[in-house]
Amino acid sequence: MRAKRSLGQNFLVDPNIQRKIVDAVEPESADTVVEIGPGHGALTDALAARATRLVAVELDDDLAAALRARFADARGVTIVHGDVLTWDPAAVLGRGTVRVVGNIPYNITSPILFRLLQWRPLPERIILMVQREVADRLAAPPGDREYGAMTVGVRAVADVERLFHVGRGAFRPVPNVDSTVLRIAPRPEAWAGAGGRLRSLTRAAFGLRRKQLQKILRTAPGYGLSREEAETVLAEVGLRPEDRPEVLDPPAFIELAAALERRGFPRAEGPDS
Ligand code: SAM
Repeated sequence: MRAKRSLGQNFLVDPNIQRKIVDAVEPESADTVVEIGPGHGALTDALAARATRLVAVELDDDLAAALRARFADARGVTIVHGDVLTWDPAAVLGRGTVRVVGNIPYNITSPILFRLLQWRPLPERIILMVQREVADRLAAPPGDREYGAMTVGVRAVADVERLFHVGRGAFRPVPNVDSTVLRIAPRPEAWAGAGGRLRSLTRAAFGLRRKQLQKILRTAPGYGLSREEAETVLAEVGLRPEDRPEVLDPPAFIELAAALERRGFPRAEGPDS
């Protein structure tokens, strides 16, 4: 198997892990399963056997062509030759529920994840293989060293669970990192409080993670509240001026971002403008 590093190609060759991943998807008959980066099809055959509809999105020209040939006669299987970061799922997905699975290129983990969380229909379950450190960051509790903007951004809108670890020996070529399979369950009702304003706030806050919240709200780009304004807005959502960002759980961030937005923050010069 020749692998293109630029496309993050590390193919999963351990049949036991392949089976465990497909089991974690648990496709039901109303589901469309979307596989990201099927590669040589390590998961694709088993997924096609279990899902009523399978859509597999592969960027690599040669691999996409080989998959198209291989699944040409398979009912309910669509191979999309394209980039998952720009692909519009609405073109293929119907009204039914969507489950996503992928052993993805690690260099684009975060863009893929945030993109999936913006899909409509919102996937009801996402099974992703990620680098172990990324899994630790996503699962970290408030106060943990690994807890940061990515943790809050994802957990504000989804539940994240580490399912099992995968050693580097399960891949060819052997990567220089270990992996973890995650189950991510987006919460549709969480969306009212999320979005750009949350991202601005978490970036500002974790950019100054050792500082107190009142200081951050006074000095971070796009914020610049007066001391009184900062104290008032923090009190309004039950926070103390001296709290630090790393102790706030995702709902607290959502509330604070909403309270700030009601006062017109972040201002236009903010990081997201
Ligand atoms: N699923 C296969 C497996 O488990 O053996 C391949 C996994 S490999 C880590 C990642 C796959 O994603 C490769 O096939 C690569 O070509 C594909 N890929 C890379 N970037 C992509 C993108 N932006 N959109 C879709 N597929 C991509």
